[in-house]
Amino acid sequence: MEKNLYNALNEQVSAEFFASNLYLSMSAYFESNDLPGFANWMRIQFKEEQDHALKIFDFLLSRDEKVKIKALEQPESKWDKPINAIESALKHEKKVTGMIYEIMGLAQDAKDYPTINLINWFVDEQVEEEANAKYLLSQLKMATSPEAMIILDRELATRTYTAPADAK
Ligand code: MG
Repeated sequence: MEKNLYNALNEQVSAEFFASNLYLSMSAYFESNDLPGFANWMRIQFKEEQDHALKIFDFLLSRDEKVKIKALEQPESKWDKPINAIESALKHEKKVTGMIYEIMGLAQDAKDYPTINLINWFVDEQVEEEANAKYLLSQLKMATSPEAMIILDRELATRTYTAPADAK
């Protein structure tokens, strides 16, 4: 595999694990603030981000490449109010989308078709991730009363985790 592409994919494994930790940190924040539905939603994100990391991890190994697991930065753990946490989530997803596009550019330059296929999945996934965060943000902006927050929290409590079909 072309070296820059390999480096970017290996970095992305860590970026997905960082995202996983960030969502886990948000889950703790919401749980501590008596919003268990939001905490549930974030905990599912935490699992999905681990799935993203492992998808690239498995791909690299199947291409006979080495994987280097790196030390992660500490994620934020405090937000002034729920909306700020969701804003950081959206900001982070936009950053990840940029990283995915970078990898796609490198894969296209290298004419690395298997990586292009892998990254196509991530391109679609990022559209969904950004849409989910935007939906949550807009719902939170509308929820200006405690009653509305309780209803929204209960809705988020119903989200369930589905393990990826190709999970090992
Ligand atoms: Mg991800």
